[in-house]
Amino acid sequence: MTNDQPRKDAALVSACLLGRECTYKASHNGDGELTRTLAAAEIEAVPFCPEEHGGLGTPRPPADLTAAAEDVLDGDGQVVTHDGEDVTLAFAQGAAGALEVCQRLGLKRAFLKERSPSCGCTTTHVRGEVVEGPGLTAALLRRHGIECTGVEGRRD
Ligand code: SF4
Repeated sequence: MTNDQPRKDAALVSACLLGRECTYKASHNGDGELTRTLAAAEIEAVPFCPEEHGGLGTPRPPADLTAAAEDVLDGDGQVVTHDGEDVTLAFAQGAAGALEVCQRLGLKRAFLKERSPSCGCTTTHVRGEVVEGPGLTAALLRRHGIECTGVEGRRD
């Protein structure tokens, strides 16, 4: 199989859930239960970190959405670090990169870290609060029909 052929048994996975130290504080959210579940189902994990892909370094300042991710995607909101820097473009590039990987590899599913302003699926951070709703990457993937499952991370 070449890299451009659809992979029926593969899914995009937040890289930090697979043990990569790519969180804003250069730690990981390695999740043994997820790893075992994917292995048992013979699903290949394709690791991806939207924020690193968007050009943000590791470690990096934490950031929050200023509005629901759907609104930010539509240009009606930003992503801002706790230091006040507007990092919307980097987050948007990270989300677009995730979508590009899914489309190029034919991935229809993603397993993403909850509460992240990028990867959160049912919960994310808006203005310093954990709220219901997706992060920017999950919102964009769902817009394009990719099934996103939230994973808490750090389970044995
Ligand atoms: S939650 Fe997503 S953006 Fe944050 S470190 Fe993990 S993979 Fe990267």
